[in-house]
Amino acid sequence: MHIIGSAHPPPDRREPDAAVDPREPIAALLRDLRTGYDGLTAREAARRLDLYGLNELPLRRGTPWWAALGRQFVHPLALLLWVAAALALGSGAAALGNAILVVIVLNAVLAFWQENQAEHAVRALSRFLPDQVCVVRDGERVPVPASRLVRGDVLLIEEGERIPADARLIAGTAEVDMSALTGESALVVRTADDADTADRSLDSPVLLFSGTACVGGSGRAVVHSTGVHTELGRIAALSQHVHREESPLEHQVRRVAWLIAAVAVGAGAAFLPLGLLAGLSLGAAFLFAIGLLVANVPEGLLPTITLALAAGVRSMAGRGAVVKRLSAVETLGSTTVICTDKTGTLTMNAMRVIEVTGNPGDTADIVARCATADPGEHAGGDPMEIALLRYAADRDRAVPMARRDTERLALNDFDAQRKMMSTVDDIGGTARVHVKGAPEAVLPRCTRWPRDATADQVRAQVDELAGRGLRVLAVARRRADGAPPRDAESAEQDLTFVGLVGLLDPPRPEVPAAVRAVHTAGIRVHVITGDNGRTAAEIARQVGLGADRVVDGNTVDEMSDERLDGLLAEPGEIVFARTTPEMKLRIADALRQNGEVVAMTGDGVNDAPALRRADIGVAMGRGGTDVAREAATLILTDDNFATIAVGIEEGRRVFDNVRKFVLYIFAHAVPEVVPFLLFALSGGAIPLPLTVLQILAIDLGTETLPALALGREPAEPGLMDRPPRPRREGVITRWLLLRAWALLGVVSAVLVTAGFFVVLFAAGWHPGAPVGPDAPLHHAYMQATTMTFAGIVTCQLGTAFAARTEWASLRSVGLTSNRLLLAGCLFEIVFAAALIYAPPLQAVFGTAALEPWMVAITLPFPVVVWAADELLRRHRRRRAPRPGTRGAFLPVGSAALPVIRGPAEARPAAPGRPNPGDRIRPQ
Ligand code: ADP
Ligand code: MG
Repeated sequence: MHIIGSAHPPPDRREPDAAVDPREPIAALLRDLRTGYDGLTAREAARRLDLYGLNELPLRRGTPWWAALGRQFVHPLALLLWVAAALALGSGAAALGNAILVVIVLNAVLAFWQENQAEHAVRALSRFLPDQVCVVRDGERVPVPASRLVRGDVLLIEEGERIPADARLIAGTAEVDMSALTGESALVVRTADDADTADRSLDSPVLLFSGTACVGGSGRAVVHSTGVHTELGRIAALSQHVHREESPLEHQVRRVAWLIAAVAVGAGAAFLPLGLLAGLSLGAAFLFAIGLLVANVPEGLLPTITLALAAGVRSMAGRGAVVKRLSAVETLGSTTVICTDKTGTLTMNAMRVIEVTGNPGDTADIVARCATADPGEHAGGDPMEIALLRYAADRDRAVPMARRDTERLALNDFDAQRKMMSTVDDIGGTARVHVKGAPEAVLPRCTRWPRDATADQVRAQVDELAGRGLRVLAVARRRADGAPPRDAESAEQDLTFVGLVGLLDPPRPEVPAAVRAVHTAGIRVHVITGDNGRTAAEIARQVGLGADRVVDGNTVDEMSDERLDGLLAEPGEIVFARTTPEMKLRIADALRQNGEVVAMTGDGVNDAPALRRADIGVAMGRGGTDVAREAATLILTDDNFATIAVGIEEGRRVFDNVRKFVLYIFAHAVPEVVPFLLFALSGGAIPLPLTVLQILAIDLGTETLPALALGREPAEPGLMDRPPRPRREGVITRWLLLRAWALLGVVSAVLVTAGFFVVLFAAGWHPGAPVGPDAPLHHAYMQATTMTFAGIVTCQLGTAFAARTEWASLRSVGLTSNRLLLAGCLFEIVFAAALIYAPPLQAVFGTAALEPWMVAITLPFPVVVWAADELLRRHRRRRAPRPGTRGAFLPVGSAALPVIRGPAEARPAAPGRPNPGDRIRPQ
């Protein structure tokens, strides 16, 4: 056992002793910690907080900043540049060599900054998820942030909660998942009054450790170590290494970057003989090859993508969807199926009893006893139970919490398998069993019925209530003569049926619109619930879901995996009712088997495996358990289905934006390479239209900010009117290459070359005329290369605006809706102007001031480039009407889409709400 709190010698006698042994007898431990079974007073807790500090681990520092910066200088693409710089310096081209060195430094700093931003964004996410725990203070149960726990606090632990500090159980039994600490996945049982004979404190049957999770049972525990003094804190101090996994998108782009680099090296090498043939000196040809290489290595691509993902993560968090990994952003965007809970996600989880059959007084008596929720001021627990307790209180049948607990002889917790719970209570000296649960579970266990109800009548009532979308519970009881039954099986039998309770849990008002949105986006939604099929189908209908079929949990159980795959491959949306959490896992597997990208919600401990198995596990920030949140990749801070739709939209937007700047960066390759080819192919009769340093100025200077700004482009209209991106489709598609090279690139190259020749011819040049430093045409030649430079810059302005949309017209998104891009373009223009007109820069980059008429020639360039692309996009929109609407462009295998649209489109839109068909269309 490590010495607890040894860093803090007690400043005065009244402080709890620094070193306590958490394994000593409970009474001694409580005394040593100067606390009691009912915890601390709020005042004492506040004082200890000042004294011992927050219950937090220091932020993982990760790699120190200088190491992270250093890494940017040695990654493979940077190494390539180092080689180029060395070659340039070695061959006597000092200016070029130095320029490349500057480029390496600028690039490294930019990449470092971008990665820092990305890490920041992910770290800041914890702010969105305050970690609440329940403690006893001043004798009352109160929720407090886990960071404000202090030694001596008494924690109330329930199923599904993460243990927030090192503590000793003083009451109850907990099943604990220690894998976070020990790596062993087998569950262990911890019981307050077990004999502690273990060697290691980790094996002690009475201790709980920070970072582990309670996956069953409940209890009280007294905190003895917090923050860095916990076992977890000690381990965290040992291993500060954080490993960031590369997202598939980053992986893909890294591969593309390599491919391009390889092509660049190849082109550079091929140019060497070409340049020599063209009559260049060896040194000049060499420099030229280096220039080509440097120009085409896409150094900035990767960090820009990381930054775009991080910006996506941040904006999602602002809208209630917190993702835990950068890569989740892109997966979300390709979601094809959502499997959602009903209670709390589709509905408000604000329940109200609105219907009771049978004797209201008896019913109230039963639900007041058979509950684990806390009816007190800081009401905690299941919202349904709270509604039931409120119902009991309204009929004056409430039982105070303390009395309820002392008179309770046994509790058989609710579990999703049994779908019911029971208590055995001592009522005036008689033991009575009280039961509540799903009617399907309770009714078969009833043997006695009230005079005015038969089993068949009750079943008909259940159907009637469920058909109205109510959640239906059955309550029952019996006297337990003799020894009180000790387990669920013996307690929950031979019951007397008392009544049905119908609870209203209205759908969330935002959900219908969100359902329409995901339907238009070609995504199917299945409901998986533990509730009754009729209830679930009715709620599904109310929010606009298909509910084409209701499949019962038992049916799923009897199905083979193949049948289940087949069922899920059929068109339409399914309501799975009366399911167990284990079925979620099977359903997730079957969907993935069918090639779907699955987002699956879950809240319970048993949901964790399914959350891990789905492509995107979705947990709730408010309701639900810590265990589910731990297993999930997306957490909805508002528990709302509509937020999933928001997340999908954001995911699609980020992915699109990555494509936009890839397009933008690819497009300039053609106008940069064509001048070299002209020079080489003309055997030197045409002088070199562009210098290597000018290329560097474009690639690594003027273009950087517009490219970054494209990563922040708002969502394109029609983004959610398309079917999901096929699983295998990468960032770079044929269409992207066609647009970048064949259209934007070729149009730019033509304009740029024309500009170059116009300036040369105007000065009286003819092919083959000398343009060297001493020739009379030299100044005109410098102006001509400057013209090429200016031409590429202005064409890229047009490309930037073209790249903003993939489908829609520029008019439909608005010329000024991306302010960052406007700023980026302004920067581009100012930078280029400085290069052309500032004498010191002229000297470095070999530029010469352009005359006004030359500048005038470049003015239409952006418009021409953009307009060409605008026409292409219009042509594409005309030829293939809005993808997704009529089932056009549906990926093979998603035959379901037209069918699920059926009901959504057939139903008249609610007044004031747009029909799905009326969504904004790309112009
Ligand atoms: P869901 O949250 O998907 O509606 P659950 O698995 O939580 O489903 O619950 C399944 C069924 O079990 C409910 O429809 C209800 O009939 C019953 N049930 C839920 N919670 C309790 C509880 N605390 N006590 C008794 N029965 C419950
Ligand atoms: Mg539930």
